[in-house]
Amino acid sequence: MSGLKQQLLARIEASGPLTLAEYMGECLLHPQFGYYATRDPLGVKGDFTTAPEISQMFGEMLGLALAQSWLDQGRPAPFILAEIGPGRGTLMGDILRVGLAVPGFVEAAEVHLVEASPVLREVQKASLGNHELRWHDHVSTLPDMPLFLVANEFFDALPIRQYVRDGDGWCERCVSASEGALCFSLGPALPQPALTHRLKDTEDGQVVEHCQPCEAITAEIGARIKARGGAALLIDYGDWVSLGDTFQALKDHAHVDPLSDPGEADLTAHVDFEAMTRAVPCAYSRLTPQGVFLERLGITQRAQALAKGLSGEKLESHIAAHRRLTHPQEMGNLFKVLALFPDQSPPPPGVEQ
Ligand code: SAH
Repeated sequence: MSGLKQQLLARIEASGPLTLAEYMGECLLHPQFGYYATRDPLGVKGDFTTAPEISQMFGEMLGLALAQSWLDQGRPAPFILAEIGPGRGTLMGDILRVGLAVPGFVEAAEVHLVEASPVLREVQKASLGNHELRWHDHVSTLPDMPLFLVANEFFDALPIRQYVRDGDGWCERCVSASEGALCFSLGPALPQPALTHRLKDTEDGQVVEHCQPCEAITAEIGARIKARGGAALLIDYGDWVSLGDTFQALKDHAHVDPLSDPGEADLTAHVDFEAMTRAVPCAYSRLTPQGVFLERLGITQRAQALAKGLSGEKLESHIAAHRRLTHPQEMGNLFKVLALFPDQSPPPPGVEQ
């Protein structure tokens, strides 16, 4: 039995069931056994692949959208160029490279990375070594300056809680122990003030998820953009309002039981964007499908330009990457973009207010 499973079973025995958020937090970030704390999970050899790892075009489009917002806001200098959950640093590398096409942008940027994993911080140091980098555990310690920020597949890794509707109350779905194994259990029906608005669009027995850190982090980013200017492009899978159980585990690019091997699989949940915008004090865009967003920014023209230098297998995989990022049956529709920007500024290109 893994060390983390043993620890979790002992903790449940001593002090009762864990919330899903407690379980997710331990599995992903436990300093000794946590999934992100102990490995680089990305890429073909890892457990999952993300948009920036599929093609440089993704980061190029995001970088140009941020740079356009920076121009629209009068080229503030210096400013914070930040990424939360930067993985291997690939997206930030592509942003910094394409940003050179916009005079003054990279020179004015102070690069800040919010990253919880010591292993991934090392990978980021290696991939972005020619830039001065500053790391943070949390967005709250970013300097008080104009903030241009990206996050891709970050919010889906934040701990959620799950509730099953029971009359006007909610039973929390927890992690308990039975005969040496972890299992789901349901708590008693209780009122949940944070879910009052969901009494309108749910029925008895339906599952609703709530991600408190998603809301707190987005509110903090929005407050900084309101006070100092900037823009944020938040990309994740999910929808305006989520309904049902979206808690899932991925290992070796396949779904596995999220309770079977704590710390060994990536745990995620769909992002509930409407809830994320509730406490945002600045303007925000309509939720835009990733495919639409990238097409509006000119990814097809960029793909055609890059294709000119390619042939054979390289050309085929380049065409497949463009399709994977944009096609509605691949990542184009599942992933959504939410942009935050100052009330008095236009939205970043690619999204509408
Ligand atoms: N954005 C990258 C990586 C996505 S994986 C890409 O698209 O390829 C999720 C990233 O978020 C990893 O870098 C992980 O270590 C980081 N992460 C997860 N939970 C975090 C938390 N609570 N605080 C900071 N970083 C976190």
